[in-house]
Amino acid sequence: MDEIKIVCPAKINLSLDVLGKREDGYHFVKMLMQSISLEDLITVRKSNNEIKIYCDTKDVPCNETNSAYKAAKLMFEKFNISGGVEILIDKKIPVAAGLAGGSTDAAGVIKAVNELYDLKLSLDEMMKIGVNIGADVPFCILGGTALAEGIGEILTPIKPLGGLWCVLAKPQFSVSTREVYSKLKIDEIPKHPDIERLIGYIEKGDYVNLAENMVNVLENVTIKEYPIIFEIKNIMMEFNALGSLMSGSGPTVFGMFESKNAAEKCYNRLRDYLKEVFLVKTCN
Ligand code: ATP
Repeated sequence: MDEIKIVCPAKINLSLDVLGKREDGYHFVKMLMQSISLEDLITVRKSNNEIKIYCDTKDVPCNETNSAYKAAKLMFEKFNISGGVEILIDKKIPVAAGLAGGSTDAAGVIKAVNELYDLKLSLDEMMKIGVNIGADVPFCILGGTALAEGIGEILTPIKPLGGLWCVLAKPQFSVSTREVYSKLKIDEIPKHPDIERLIGYIEKGDYVNLAENMVNVLENVTIKEYPIIFEIKNIMMEFNALGSLMSGSGPTVFGMFESKNAAEKCYNRLRDYLKEVFLVKTCN
């Protein structure tokens, strides 16, 4: 096999808590992660040269700073692979949006190299490699519904959420994850999510209570600078979302809906208002 295509799903955070800060600047988090059906498609092809990235989306670097490049380089070094690869990224996930777009491409490359070079790595082994690229990469390798602890790399799978309809809306700007975390005052967080309770709701299939009680402690930091996030949340609630929350460090906001019909109504309303709106399902 000389070429492989891998579907790389985005994630949303059904809740995000920050518990403390590490010496190296990373934060201790407790997050509920969920894969969604908004996906990049990457094609990884063996070549004789070096690692090359092709992507025509604005703001995605086609050089050694691309997360997909870093993942390929790490795999080549770790397993003494000679030659190179061409990586084509068909980008559908908005960039710097709180949806782990870069992390999921890195996860896809690790899986692709594992297959192309017949490395026979387990999911666990690939996840351990992935954390060197970024804290969200192990979850992107695992996928589905999971609790993430530590810096995001200690994962416990949870009963899958099933195909719930969600609307995603991204305002026209991007935010830097690093900046949002640096502005967060951990001692002054007004409300933490009760993650154990939320996991209980997921296990019982009680999505109404899950959606009503989602909390992202980074939301206030980003909303302070960009009140439009609050406006989008309000529109989603007006359109009967079960709940609405900013994902990651933002600025993407998602709403969870009871039916496709309800989600579509909200999607159509937000499309009058914003360019980047998506109708997606949670996936395993
Ligand atoms: P996270 O939720 O993991 O913090 P994000 O969704 O907020 O991630 P990304 O889409 O990963 O953010 O983009 C963050 C930065 O990474 C961007 O500024 C972008 O230039 C850079 N980047 C590097 N590689 C990629 C890639 N393969 N896809 C998207 N962005 C990339």
